[in-house]
Amino acid sequence: MENKKILVEAKNLTKEFTTVSSSWGKSKGIVHAVTDVNLQVYEGETLGVVGESGCGKSTLGRLLLHLLQPTRGDVIFDGQNLGELKEAEMRNMRKQMQMVFQDPYASLNPRLKIRDIVAEPLTTHNITKSKEEETALVEDLLRKCGIRPEFMYRYPHQFSGGQRQRVSIARALALNPRLIVCDEPVSALDVSIQSQILNLLGDLQAERNLTYIFISHDLSVVRYLSDRVCVMFLGKICELGITREIYADPIHPYTKFLLEAVPLPDPEKKKEAKDMLTGEIPSPVNPPSGCHFRTRCPFATERCAAEAPELKEAAPHRYVACHLV
Ligand code: SF4
Repeated sequence: MENKKILVEAKNLTKEFTTVSSSWGKSKGIVHAVTDVNLQVYEGETLGVVGESGCGKSTLGRLLLHLLQPTRGDVIFDGQNLGELKEAEMRNMRKQMQMVFQDPYASLNPRLKIRDIVAEPLTTHNITKSKEEETALVEDLLRKCGIRPEFMYRYPHQFSGGQRQRVSIARALALNPRLIVCDEPVSALDVSIQSQILNLLGDLQAERNLTYIFISHDLSVVRYLSDRVCVMFLGKICELGITREIYADPIHPYTKFLLEAVPLPDPEKKKEAKDMLTGEIPSPVNPPSGCHFRTRCPFATERCAAEAPELKEAAPHRYVACHLV
């Protein structure tokens, strides 16, 4: 870790959304989507970001790509603060960072042929000098992603879900990016297809030294691909560390419960493990004081209500936010 180059860094990254009452157009409250996240992502690694729905993981992914403006805090990409870049500089920077979405059908324009979908970023950034060069590049990208180039004049609806995700990945690769944020990229696919797409992502990473931020609610999928894992709850990082160490020995109570709920094949036992988490996920509009996890945590004390735990190094390369650590 020490000798690795930091590609992306979040510094006190915070995103709040104002919710508006539909009838009066008045502000109803503030959604604390991401709160004070500090994170470093190393070049060539896969950082898995896990947590239940609404924990802020997708918002974090979009903030790191500067698709969303932070309310506070900074994103540093390759040493440059994205918030300080001029429009033209940011446009140029965008080539280096791409996203693959959960639903490949919704993210592909149904009226465009596959060739034009994959070529779109090349056209936008004036990468190729002729149509022939563009087509050759599209063919090459499709082939690398396991789609036969002769299919490039078909439309998205003529492909299966897995094939459409391959097309999305080909499009994401078109500008030769360094960072790809994959937001639940296999969640909409059958289990048998999931491993094919994960293998494709792994092969492309090895070939191109890609850096992935891999967002998923599925801990087994994250384990398969990630070098490190970041566990989030209600907009904050609970635990961050090397994947095999976290899965072997989780420290934060929330990570423990998440992992206890995963590997049990017996649905009754799985339910039991889930039930160990008391209560519903609190609202991000009105998060609990102190530790955001305290209303679900069986170990919570008065201190947990009064004081938010900081993310501290609990062991080498392991960071945990809990007063018990
Ligand atoms: Fe539980 Fe307190 Fe630790 Fe939060 S800080 S996880 S409430 S023990």
